[in-house]
Amino acid sequence: MKMKSLENAFEDSLKDIYYAERQILKSLPKMIRAAQSPDLKEGLTKHREETEGQVERLEQVFEIIGKRAQGKTCPAINGILEEGAEIMEEYGKSPAIDAVLAAAGQAVEHYEIARYGTLCAWAAQLGYDEAIPLLQQTLEQEKAADEALTSAAEKANETAMAAE
Ligand code: FE
Ligand code: FE
Ligand code: ZN
Ligand code: FE
Repeated sequence: MKMKSLENAFEDSLKDIYYAERQILKSLPKMIRAAQSPDLKEGLTKHREETEGQVERLEQVFEIIGKRAQGKTCPAINGILEEGAEIMEEYGKSPAIDAVLAAAGQAVEHYEIARYGTLCAWAAQLGYDEAIPLLQQTLEQEKAADEALTSAAEKANETAMAAE
């Protein structure tokens, strides 16, 4: 078997996040429905729209490296989303629902931030200069989504406490 290269790692990671983004796209409507505060609902809705663009940008990156856009099962995102689905069931009727939803959302964003950070660095190292701004733009959106969730969580945590 030929030894895998950094080039292979870049392509494999692209497939990983391509799969992850599409799973996230499927999960977000459930999270939006579960959210109680208009703040959190709007934040998640905005990020759902951004995620559609993120999927398209990944397809552009596949094109840049001359490969077919293809996903590869990401066990990490499956686990994170599964955990999110579980808490939505357990806390659906609780005043703490928004607090736990924001926390679940941040777990997703942090995974994505880790992946896109690496992809940006590898694109630069491999000389895929056209891919860098595409990956960077998504990375910035993930960071902004994480920050928006932090703000929503601050309110949600207070709401949860006030109801006790
Ligand atoms: Fe994303
Ligand atoms: Fe993964
Ligand atoms: Zn995302
Ligand atoms: Fe995100």
